Amino acid sequence: MNGKKTKPVSGDAAHPRILALAKKALRRRLDAVMIGDEANVRALTGVACDNARLVVEPRADGGEPRVTFYTDFRYVPAVKRTAPDLKVADFKDFRRGNWKRIGFEGCMAASDYLDLKGAFPRAKLVDVLKDVHALRAVKTPAEIAAIAAAEALNDEIWARAQEDFKPGMTEKEMQRVIRAWMNALGDGEAFETIVCAGANAAECHHVPDDTPWRENEPLLVDMGVKLAGVCADMTRCIVPRRPSAEYRKIYALVLAANRAGIAAARPGITGRELDKVARDVIRKAGFGKAFGHALGHGVGYEIHEAPTASKKSDWTLEPGMLVTIEPGVYLPGKLGVRIEDLVLVTKDGCEVLSHSAK
Ligand code: ZN
Ligand code: ZN
Repeated sequence: MNGKKTKPVSGDAAHPRILALAKKALRRRLDAVMIGDEANVRALTGVACDNARLVVEPRADGGEPRVTFYTDFRYVPAVKRTAPDLKVADFKDFRRGNWKRIGFEGCMAASDYLDLKGAFPRAKLVDVLKDVHALRAVKTPAEIAAIAAAEALNDEIWARAQEDFKPGMTEKEMQRVIRAWMNALGDGEAFETIVCAGANAAECHHVPDDTPWRENEPLLVDMGVKLAGVCADMTRCIVPRRPSAEYRKIYALVLAANRAGIAAARPGITGRELDKVARDVIRKAGFGKAFGHALGHGVGYEIHEAPTASKKSDWTLEPGMLVTIEPGVYLPGKLGVRIEDLVLVTKDGCEVLSHSAK
């Protein structure tokens, strides 16, 4: 982490992301935008709070928006500490606004949506989730530093875990080893660590069980530590000393696809194009059907964020975005290989934040 902090938010002179959101809201002719999703609230204000309605009211003349953080007493100290200039109001009072067109997050719980509908029966509700995700996709320098630190810690935990691993240990035992390191050195797991011994790796989201990791068997581990509110993400395979010819061939193929993806990640490329670059390497070798998932996703306060790199993605990469490059080939009953790195899009290419050997 460097010493840079997220710029404090004030009711009148807000965080740059709030100002950008107000601009988008004005273009959509909204009277107010309501943000309650924890990661969205965090990205806009810096405050970690799971019971908030951040209300941004744009001014018709384009002037500074009115910003109010509605929450309950449990979170008032956190708001005062993290965003001291932000106006705080009691959670239930957000229902008193007199708004005709309200922006909401399409990811909200159905019960919250019904509550909103009930509170504003005549208002038109407009989904602005993609606007918020677009603002979150480009990271601030402080967020980039935090995520790079989390990814570096993830590398360190992977190195330590490998020293602890011994043939005969079960997947669950190895999962516990990684978890223990994540709890000791970071803030726990960003997602449930995936450990696949031998042919179990053919199932790409296999839940670790009592399968033992046998001598001369490959191992696949997908892991991400949480640190200071942000996530890391990386997948590595331990290649046995005497791999089968087939495993060696598939490993080299997936690595070539991973490298092709990294070489292509730069500003201006779309998520769809990036996915295709890596996918073509695998497809041309005849294993297209064995790569059934998307190439990658953004990482930040959540483990899966915008932008996505998939067959359908219409995101365009910009400097400051983060994306994983994680091609895989899965042959049921035989083997599975996935190699995942997290990259930061820079002005003229990308910087790989995962440094573990592959
Ligand atoms: Zn992963
Ligand atoms: Zn991932």
